[in-house]
Amino acid sequence: MLEKVLIANRGEIALRILRACREMGIATVAVHSEADNDSLHVKLADESVCIGPAASAQSYLNVPAIIAAAEVTGADAIHPGYGFLAENASFADQVEQSGFTFIGPRADTIRLMGDKVSAKHAMIAAGVPCVPGSDGALPDDSAEIMRIADEVGFPVIIKASGGGGGRGMRVVEKKEDLIRSVEMTKTEAGAAFGNPMVYMERYLQKPRHVEIQVLADEHGNAIYLGERDCSMQRRHQKVIEEAPAPGITEAEREQIGQACVDACKRIGYRGAGTFEFLYENGEFFFIEMNTRVQVEHPVTELISGVDIVQEQIRVAGGLPLQYTQADIRLEGHAFECRINAEDPYNFIPSPGLITSCHLPGGLGVRVDSHIYQGYRIPPNYDSLIGKICVHGKTREQAMAKMRVALAELAVTGIKTNTALHRDLFTDPGFSQGGVSIHYLEKWLEARKAAQAE
Ligand code: ADP
Repeated sequence: MLEKVLIANRGEIALRILRACREMGIATVAVHSEADNDSLHVKLADESVCIGPAASAQSYLNVPAIIAAAEVTGADAIHPGYGFLAENASFADQVEQSGFTFIGPRADTIRLMGDKVSAKHAMIAAGVPCVPGSDGALPDDSAEIMRIADEVGFPVIIKASGGGGGRGMRVVEKKEDLIRSVEMTKTEAGAAFGNPMVYMERYLQKPRHVEIQVLADEHGNAIYLGERDCSMQRRHQKVIEEAPAPGITEAEREQIGQACVDACKRIGYRGAGTFEFLYENGEFFFIEMNTRVQVEHPVTELISGVDIVQEQIRVAGGLPLQYTQADIRLEGHAFECRINAEDPYNFIPSPGLITSCHLPGGLGVRVDSHIYQGYRIPPNYDSLIGKICVHGKTREQAMAKMRVALAELAVTGIKTNTALHRDLFTDPGFSQGGVSIHYLEKWLEARKAAQAE
């Protein structure tokens, strides 16, 4: 078993990993930038090492500094969290080559899934349903691109194979815009991701974002922990997540979950992972796989009782999963609200000093956050300052709990998006459940129009 884990991340996820380690009796090393000296996970870790200045490129993305920190502290493994280096295959390689355990899948799996064209090929081969589209990367020949688009059917979406974070995508409604759009996406993809390869998919009109959480070990075991609905998005970024996804039947869950488990076994997957799907008219279409722990993992933990981060650590240490599929019982309903330090109306980031902070509590309320009174949020990183999660017997009860939790949440000194969440948890459309990925954007437009009047 692992004895000392270096946490190569910051903020709430660093704290989350630290808690998992402490519960397992594993020592922790925090690495941090100069801007994060006062971070909670740094204070709570057994040891800490400053690895560079505030800019991520020089600290949280600084591979030699992170590996040197593991060497001087005698850590035996590195947990990358999410974001930063979590899906960087070369980092995973360097960690292993330096003699440390990377808490995540093998580097070649990260590489396979990090390229969306190769990921789709692997999924088609494994029998996972994908969005209909081009068979791999688009060719250079315009006539051939036209032919593929006609076959796929307009509207289509052109996506960069190396894309991520909601960037590198372009929707094409009409035939006459196709070639120009392909050229523009290629150019942008080459500049942004160093890979001009693009592919084509049918553009689904009103899909929901439904994803499957999996866990796999090196002994040939793989299980799924049900699904999450992450359709409440702004600019392709998730704002609210829930589990289970409203209206998904037990039969649907089992079928798509089993397909993901089969795919894990086929590609020799290791650790925690998420298969992301668009769900429309009762059908699942694979879009991509995330080879790491996700921000929204708590909603799955709340309904399954499985500690996903602890399983990641156990598996990385070579142990088998503690659960078989038959052990997994999903109970009740969970929500997560992402609390950001930002204006709730125009979304402009709001870093600065937290002058007071009251976090909610009570039965079925979970708060994953690194903030405290007197903490100064640095302007250099993501604006996520915490996640308010709730678990109730039913979706209605969970919604009621979230309304109470959000009413209790009081952070002063900076702006947060709490008011947005409060409004959404009284919104009739969202309350019904099962909204599409466009619902929140349309809701925000309507709010803006109403304010302008
Ligand atoms: P990224 O890696 O940048 O997050 P994804 O492939 O996961 O890119 O897609 C992000 C979002 O873009 C999806 O959640 C969905 O909202 C939208 N999207 C992607 N592909 C399609 C498609 N074929 N049809 C409709 N919407 C899509």
